[in-house]
Formats: sequence, structure tokens, C-alpha cells
Amino acid sequence: MDKAKLEHFRGMLLEQLRQRTENVRSSQADALEMFADDGVKDAADMSLQDVNQELGLRLGERESQAVADIDQALLRIEEGSYGTCARCAKPIPERRLEAVPTARYDAECQSLLEAKTGEDEHATL
Ligand SMILES: [Zn+2]
Repeated sequence: MDKAKLEHFRGMLLEQLRQRTENVRSSQADALEMFADDGVKDAADMSLQDVNQELGLRLGERESQAVADIDQALLRIEEGSYGTCARCAKPIPERRLEAVPTARYDAECQSLLEAKTGEDEHATL
């Protein structure tokens, strides 16, 4: 993938990260309000670490995972492995990356992996 295209996808990823970060910030404000409502501790007395720890619990896996996916995609751009399927090492079609810039796999491997996850879920039932 040429440099201009990498920059294009990097821009998309940074924009997504910015939007996610805004979500996190408003969640952080909510979390601080909850602490204040407890009346047990002043929010101001809490260390940032405590707040972040609590936030991780309250944010939910979905949001944390989305931010982690974007981080990893940005890392792959730095490493030069962006746009290559992590399973079969074939190039991921650009139209797929346009739709899902965090994609690690091409459509074929993605559906194989999802089918596998489905089997695992059945096994635990
Ligand atoms: Zn693949």
C-alpha cells in the first residue's frame, strides 16, 4: 500500500479514535457524578487512577475493545503491516478497509474466524 493511502486510513482511524475519546470523556464525567452522589468519597479526593479503574469497569468491553482495535490498527500502520491479512497474509481489499479501517483480516478469514467463535460459544452452552 502506498504512503498516500496509508495516510488516508490513518486519518480515518484518528477520527474514529477522536470520537471514541469523546465518548470516554462524557462517561468519565458521568462516573465522577456517580462517585459524588455516593457521598462516601469526594470525587476530588479520588486519584485519577481510581477513576480510570472504575471507568474501565463502567465503560463496558465494547467501547474499550473498539479503542484497542483502533490503537492496534495505528500500530500496524507504523509497523508497515497495515492492510495485510493477519491470518493468510494476503492484501485486504481497500474497499473493505474503507468500510472497516480496523480490519485485521480479509473477508474470507474473518468469516472463518467468526464461524470458529460460534463453535466455541456452542461448546460452553
Ligand atoms: Zn486472510
